[in-house]
Order: sequence, then structure tokens, then C-alpha cells
Amino acid sequence: MKQIVFATNNKNKLREMREIMDGLYEVLSLEEIGCHEDIIEDADTIEGNAKIKADFVTNRFHVDCFADDTGLEVEALGGAPGVYSARYAGEHCSYQDNVNKLLEALKGAGNRKAAFRTCIALNLDGKSYYFEGRCDGHITEVQRGTDGFGYDPVFQPDGFDQTFAEMGHEGKNAISHRGRATQKLIAFLKQVE
Ligand code: IMP
Repeated sequence: MKQIVFATNNKNKLREMREIMDGLYEVLSLEEIGCHEDIIEDADTIEGNAKIKADFVTNRFHVDCFADDTGLEVEALGGAPGVYSARYAGEHCSYQDNVNKLLEALKGAGNRKAAFRTCIALNLDGKSYYFEGRCDGHITEVQRGTDGFGYDPVFQPDGFDQTFAEMGHEGKNAISHRGRATQKLIAFLKQVE
């Protein structure tokens, strides 16, 4: 099977991506190609950060590579935490710290609309491409569910009664921001095969 590098060491994202890419590509992590450097993601957009990661790996290791970057955009917070979603509650905060800060920031808020947005940057055969996926929903009043990661326990996608953390992997992958961006990536990869 053909190989492609996914510029991440996040075990949750890797598992999700392998489930979605099953049978098409063998997906290798940064660790598996021996890339142990800290890639500085200092762009002010998710598109910029995805490109920084993909370009770093392609330039250093001369491999086809894709990288994703995701932001949770909350309407009542003017689009925050957005590109800063990972560090919303501080530099070395936990997923739970971020969830707590978000629930606190939205205490009593009438408008709880939010959207996850994922951008995937792909470097393939010397060319660069972008794919975007979006999932609209709202931030719940309290956290529910234990699956998933990050803001999953407080994000309820439109048209569903469950949070991402209550849905199970397959249910989430089918409709999530990353799932949708990845479906576009896969459709493209199949077409250029
Ligand atoms: P990243 O750019 O994909 O690493 O995402 C940045 C941050 O957004 C992560 O640290 C998580 O807090 C959050 N995040 C990304 N994807 C998801 C998801 O699918 N569910 C919940 N939170 C997510």
C-alpha cells in the first residue's frame, strides 16, 4: 500500500485518520518517520499552521505529507478560541482546562453557536493543495460523554441530540469537521491515483 505522512503525533487524530483512510494509504506519524523536532505553529490562521507543518516535513524528509489544523469558533466570543483552541486556557493546559474556561466564558450566554473548522494542507508530488471541513453546532451548558478528546464533551453538532463525546468514533467521523476535510482529501487522492 502507498504511504503518506500525517504530520502529527496526536494519537487520537492518528486513530481517526487511519479509520477514515483505511485501505487507501498507510498513514505514518511524525514519530514513525523519525521527526522529533518541535514544529512551531505560529501562523494566525488554521490554514497557515497546516501549511507550516506539511511544508516542514516535506522539505526535511522529501516525502508526500499532509497536516491538519483545527479551530473551534464560538460566535458569542467573536470566533475565539479559533486558531488558539489548543492553548485557550494557557500554554500547557489540559483538554479539561479548556472546556472549563469555555463553559465559564459562555455562562448565561443566549447564543451558544459554534463551529469546528479543519484545514488540511497536502504536499503531493511537488504540488500543494488545501481542503476544508466544517461542522456547525453549539456549546452545551454542561459536558456530556466520555469518548473523543478536546472540546468533544461540550460540542453538540446541529441535527443531533448527542455531543461528539457521546457519539462514538464512527458517528463522529461521518459528520465531523476533520471527517469532512478528510473525505475531500480522499476524493482528491483517489482521483489523482
Ligand atoms: P489541532 O489543530 O487539530 O491540534 O486542534 C487544536 C485544538 O482544537 C485541540 O487541541 C483540541 O482542543 C481542539 N480540537 C481539534 N479537533 C477536535 C475535535 O475533533 N474535537 C474536539 N476538540 C478538537
